[in-house]
Amino acid sequence: MDPHSQWCHNRRCRAYGRIGEGHIVVIHSQKERRYRCKRCGRTFSETTDTVLYRIHKPKWLVVAVVTLLAHGCPVQAIVAAFELDERTVARWQRESGAQCKRVHEHLIEAGRVALLQVQADELRIKGVGAVYWLASALEVKSRLWLGGSISEHRDRELIRTLLIRVRACGPIEHILLVTDGLASYASQALHVFRKPLRNGK
Ligand SMILES: [Zn+2]
Repeated sequence: MDPHSQWCHNRRCRAYGRIGEGHIVVIHSQKERRYRCKRCGRTFSETTDTVLYRIHKPKWLVVAVVTLLAHGCPVQAIVAAFELDERTVARWQRESGAQCKRVHEHLIEAGRVALLQVQADELRIKGVGAVYWLASALEVKSRLWLGGSISEHRDRELIRTLLIRVRACGPIEHILLVTDGLASYASQALHVFRKPLRNGK
């Protein structure tokens, strides 16, 4: 157990989500693997806010199922192979996805990525009874995935949401924008990346 890699999970606490700042989080119980926040006094488990919180299945099984889902394995195959309830698999997928989103926001969208060259593209995805568009962006030199956005329409909202995510990843000074013809990139980049110069009027 390492209190330095933990943070307070109480959203009302000033230490919420702040990792490695002094000795705010201490070990509460080695046996129950619980930590305690010195600022608000709340205790929390090692697995709070993760997919492993209060599960009644072995940890390896959750990790295996989430890995298979991430590689596109059909849910029905997982249900059949591990004799799991479909709702359990759906819950693990939902909760691990939410955790991944928080990790991504904390590490990548924290403004520290060197954005030398960014590539963005849209994928057409067929869902059950609907078609969706996934727009995503990556930094070319590091191959780091910067984030994505999903919409039923390939429109300016889709591109705007993506560019706002890109902007959060790192500092942007001068931009050369090249597009294959989707006009939304040019129009939304002007909205998202410009800095207004106030003239006092
Ligand atoms: Zn706290």
